[in-house]
Amino acid sequence: MSNKTNIACPCGMNTQHSPLLYDTCCGPLHANALKAASPEQLMRSRYTAFVMKLYDYLIATHHPEYLHGLTASTLAQSPEIHWLTLQIISSSITDLQGQVEFQAWYKDETGIDAIHERSEFQCIEGDWLYTQGEQFDAIFPKRNQACLCGSGKKFKQCCL
Ligand SMILES: [Zn+2]
Ligand SMILES: [Zn+2]
Repeated sequence: MSNKTNIACPCGMNTQHSPLLYDTCCGPLHANALKAASPEQLMRSRYTAFVMKLYDYLIATHHPEYLHGLTASTLAQSPEIHWLTLQIISSSITDLQGQVEFQAWYKDETGIDAIHERSEFQCIEGDWLYTQGEQFDAIFPKRNQACLCGSGKKFKQCCL
């Protein structure tokens, strides 16, 4: 993965307006060098794993009782998605349960859309694992807000 270590982490994590690099953000989680300290950190690393097609990591961080037959190879067969950005809406922890609501934005021929989901997580022996999620309609930016594709233009002048 050495060629990926200098890139801004796809999950969009930043400190005071400078983005974290992949190798100080989701990279160590993907390399098994670090455990996610929170459901939100796990969620970010799973988004980045989708962007980077790290399907084994997605399976390893998915609670086995909730996989329902999903495997790394079925994930690899899913259609190619051009991911744009991850937007965390809220996250919370209660004991060993966590919730993260997010929108994962992507672009296709018809424009931009998002997976809007409230995901559930469980901490099992120190490992946060994804269990299941409830999906909602995407909430789009207002016309004058910045476009989510990262162009720097207003939404109405870009992907709307
Ligand atoms: Zn990251
Ligand atoms: Zn745009």
